[in-house]
Amino acid sequence: MFCEQCGAKLPEGAKFCAGCGAKTERVQVAYTASAEPAPPRPGAYSGQPGSEPLRVGQYIGMLLLMIVPILSVVLLFVWSFGGSVNLNKKNFARAMLIVSAIGIVLSIIFSTALIGIVGELFGGYY
Ligand SMILES: [Zn+2]
Repeated sequence: MFCEQCGAKLPEGAKFCAGCGAKTERVQVAYTASAEPAPPRPGAYSGQPGSEPLRVGQYIGMLLLMIVPILSVVLLFVWSFGGSVNLNKKNFARAMLIVSAIGIVLSIIFSTALIGIVGELFGGYY
């Protein structure tokens, strides 16, 4: 850190230059403003609490729980609307609920269409 007026070297945090008596605060502010923000350290996570990345083991556990018929639905609702649930887990659960809802709707449409086709093949409507 150097004085803007006379170029003398200043001790860290000095308010006035020892050489010419000029205020150093303006220089400090200008330096801070022009300084680039520190890049995040690799591996360091600086997000909101509750949004930490999930580990591979946690994903495996979640996917294994999805195999269990009734428990999976209960867990998806708990994770989707629970208060202190990890954000990634929450979003995973919401995505799973949406996908399974689409799956149910599609299976209803297909089974309805299939019943119609089968009915027509066997002449049920004549
Ligand atoms: Zn000076």
